[in-house]
Amino acid sequence: MPELPEVETIVREIAPRLEGCRIAEVQLKKTDVLREVSKRRLISMLRGNTVEQVYRRAKHAVFRLSSGDRMIIQPRMTGSVIVYDRRLTPDELKYAVLICTLSDGRKFVYRDVRRLGTIWLLDEEGWIAYTGRIGPEPLEETFTPFVFAQRLKGTRTAVKKAIMDQRRLAGVGNIYANEALFDARLNPAKSTDKLSLEEFARLHAAIVDVLQRALASSGTTLRDYRTGTGERGRFQFELRVYGRGGEKCRNCGRKLVMTHKIDLRQTVFCGRCQR
Ligand SMILES: [Zn+2]
Repeated sequence: MPELPEVETIVREIAPRLEGCRIAEVQLKKTDVLREVSKRRLISMLRGNTVEQVYRRAKHAVFRLSSGDRMIIQPRMTGSVIVYDRRLTPDELKYAVLICTLSDGRKFVYRDVRRLGTIWLLDEEGWIAYTGRIGPEPLEETFTPFVFAQRLKGTRTAVKKAIMDQRRLAGVGNIYANEALFDARLNPAKSTDKLSLEEFARLHAAIVDVLQRALASSGTTLRDYRTGTGERGRFQFELRVYGRGGEKCRNCGRKLVMTHKIDLRQTVFCGRCQR
């Protein structure tokens, strides 16, 4: 969290408000979110630079600057990126980590309540190498069931872990892995190499479907995630298994099982519907 639908929502909302804008002033209030870049270097890189393009790759929001460098933000559990047309409230200011004042006076803010997210910088070459190590984007047309099966075949790891592995597939995290496996009627612990072609096709369709539906609802807000305009997502009301351990399966009425055994994270599934 945020996963693909949340980061895509943020990026779609802020891109038109940020692209082509020059950063006049930069304030970095905490440095523990920085990875492989010093406070000084980040500030000097951003100040006076123009944001040419804002886009998403996997769970990252990418800001391509006119210098060719990319600032990459991964909001993780508690981060969000917001563009404000007004002065920030004291509460908004409290969690603001990076504040970029644009030349027209608006503010582009990365806020992170528990500072679990990260900010880093890559030049063009570094970015190409980095993005090349990440798997295909599930909402692109080129992501076919065949491509999906190719990326996952030959691994004996639990299918839930395999689809969350960013080197195999981009953008899917714990919430949407749980949901997609329920929709595809597959047991999350099933060994990936035991999946039939028909099961790969079913899971492929379920992943694409749940990501599209979540995107249509501006993502899932369980705690701190906010869209690029500061709103909450609405997909939390449509979750079928995630966060519902012990409650009834929407399909068959049986109690849903919750376990942390697969990957130490919350896995919820129906022992009857998911084989
Ligand atoms: Zn069931």
